[in-house]
Amino acid sequence: MKILVINAGSSSMKYQLIDMTDESTLAKGNCERIGIDGHFKHTTSDGRKYEADVTMDNHTQAFMQIKNALVDEKVGVIKDLSEVSAIGHRVVQGGSIFKKSCLVTEDVIEKIEGLSPLAPLHNPAHVQGIRACIDVFGKDVPEVVVFDTSFHSTMPETAYMYAVPYEYYEKYAVRRYGFHGTSHRYVSARCAELMGKDIKDLKIITCHLGNGSSITAIDGGKVVDTSMGLTPLDGIMMGTRTGCLDPSVVTFIAEKEGFTPAEMDTLLNKKSGFLGISGVSSDDRDVCAAAESGNKRAQLAIDMLEYHILKYIGSYAAVLGGVDAIVFTAGIGENQSSHRENVCHKLAYLGVEINDEVNAGMIRGAEGKISTENSKVDVFVIPTNEEIVIARDTMAIVNA
Ligand code: AMP
Repeated sequence: MKILVINAGSSSMKYQLIDMTDESTLAKGNCERIGIDGHFKHTTSDGRKYEADVTMDNHTQAFMQIKNALVDEKVGVIKDLSEVSAIGHRVVQGGSIFKKSCLVTEDVIEKIEGLSPLAPLHNPAHVQGIRACIDVFGKDVPEVVVFDTSFHSTMPETAYMYAVPYEYYEKYAVRRYGFHGTSHRYVSARCAELMGKDIKDLKIITCHLGNGSSITAIDGGKVVDTSMGLTPLDGIMMGTRTGCLDPSVVTFIAEKEGFTPAEMDTLLNKKSGFLGISGVSSDDRDVCAAAESGNKRAQLAIDMLEYHILKYIGSYAAVLGGVDAIVFTAGIGENQSSHRENVCHKLAYLGVEINDEVNAGMIRGAEGKISTENSKVDVFVIPTNEEIVIARDTMAIVNA
């Protein structure tokens, strides 16, 4: 069975065609700048490439590019579109409605659209992607939606409620939802596999550290708390996002500077985090390079990030009542061994001991254990694979 995995944003659409017989990726690519000037990239697993500026006025036109590339004589990987058995879509916000992945129906599309106030940048784009997909592939190809929030739906009320008047939960569904759920789900399951244990017997803390970052506490395979909240702004400091702060900081700056809510939103989401503190870049690699050449604010940004990670791991160890394994994943988690080293050394009180040499070599897609045999907590680096989770869910639902 071949499954097309789609991640539709407002001006981009990433895709991967996966052969489920061995879970290999046959081709992947991205339609960029949809509705602007348009750029299309396509790569096959055997190294064939196609890249061009192509006008894509909307998501349907973007889907036409994907469709043509998949069956193209030179860069195609299938003979006929009928080889695509099903399509799986990533959806950021499933609210309290979608606790699991499900088949796309008109009712499901309307509900995803209805959750747009909770994810104004993402859900409308996903709906455009799903509708465009139906336009191009027709109604006979089953489509499945997989939500970033679903894995977190096991959180208890005590963890997901905010201490604001209860009426705002009732009126507007204001609560913690959490994000990156598909990634946390993949790496925690893989961690249990690598440990040779049943996930039901494990307490795991997963650290998804990328441009956006979140940390999750998982007990027996179920999320008990996660650092992102109503939106992906909460938690640890990120590339351009603040992470958690005293809410009064928001009203204080807004009053002093005369900022509107929308301007504050931009400041907190796009001008803060690594970029705001270092003044150099939102990218961890640039900030690390600047710190090495003596930039004090860049060093401060790094120290703050590591401190935030340390605080969350400590608080989640308390929430879980102990921890069996810690996992690092995503761009920073998979590649920046210095952050892992600095954080893990400070976790000695939990019995964490890592092998610094093994840790330094665990980069660029490598998967493995970086803790020593003496360590009371197993520490892993596990490259995330959200696409495979989407493809697996899609296949399971379609087969059922
Ligand atoms: P992500 O959002 O998961 O793509 O992660 C992006 C972040 O990972 C950026 O801050 C990058 O600086 C950081 N990063 C560090 N090393 C690498 C690397 N070798 N490849 C990709 N991203 C990296």
